[in-house]
Amino acid sequence: MFLQGKIALITGSTSGIGLGYARALAAQGAHIMINGFGDESDINAYVEELKQQSGDAAYCGADLTRPSEIRDMMSYCQERLGAPDIVINNAGIQNVAPVDEFPEEKWDEIIAIILSSAFHVTKAALPAMKERGWGRIINTGSMHSLVASPYKSAYNAAKHGISGFTKTIALEVAEQGITANTICPGYVWTPLVEGQIPDTMKTRGLTRDKVINDVLLANQPAKKFVTIEQVAAMAVYLCREEAAIITGSDIKIDGGWTAQ
Ligand code: NAD
Repeated sequence: MFLQGKIALITGSTSGIGLGYARALAAQGAHIMINGFGDESDINAYVEELKQQSGDAAYCGADLTRPSEIRDMMSYCQERLGAPDIVINNAGIQNVAPVDEFPEEKWDEIIAIILSSAFHVTKAALPAMKERGWGRIINTGSMHSLVASPYKSAYNAAKHGISGFTKTIALEVAEQGITANTICPGYVWTPLVEGQIPDTMKTRGLTRDKVINDVLLANQPAKKFVTIEQVAAMAVYLCREEAAIITGSDIKIDGGWTAQ
């Protein structure tokens, strides 16, 4: 329980990887502020589960496309749990279309949720971290922080952007006990990915195994999905004192995707 007494704010943590981070940090004793959309009773159950683990947790439904709601979330976190020692900027959405057909509002939304929200959250969180002389900024990038795939222009741009933003934070606070890193997962087995399988089977006339191996994992040499637990374990490690010298890094957890 090496995170007892620490407070973590995790965006986009009502599902998937973000919820995995929340569970893994709570298991080490951190009090967690979760954020994201979803079913109210599911979210209440997650908060209760996290409270059972570490003693306290709370939820804020801020829409990360709105900077004023992000500022309110940071104030609420401060009042309810305390200023965060650990921030994980994780929320993300996707849209797939060629650049010349890419909907302008989708471009703006993806950049706002993945990239600009990380700026607003980090800006608000850094002063208290500097005061304490300890902090961890962990940003969820992607293999698409390092290489691109076609038809994902906004996502690729935002994910490359978050890597550059994270490096800048790392340099600015390098001597102040605060680290900033980007975790870059390959394809992760989440409910979202699982949910795409039946449709892809139907539209392409493929078996479940073919969809998994030849479509989803076509570029992931290990031919296995990354698990939520594997990604969350890296975030826990980055909070340890052993990781205090790791900063400004893009940490790949991608089954070899970007080795090609
Ligand atoms: P997910 O859809 O399960 O979770 C996304 C979270 O973001 C949810 O909690 C959702 O409510 C929240 N969110 C979306 N829009 C929001 C908004 N406007 N305001 C507040 N919250 C909002 O997806 P996931 O797969 O767990 O993805 C989490 C992160 O991991 C994303 O940044 C994603 O790009 C990244 N990632 C995912 C994979 C993968 O294969 N699943 C691979 C690499 C990177």
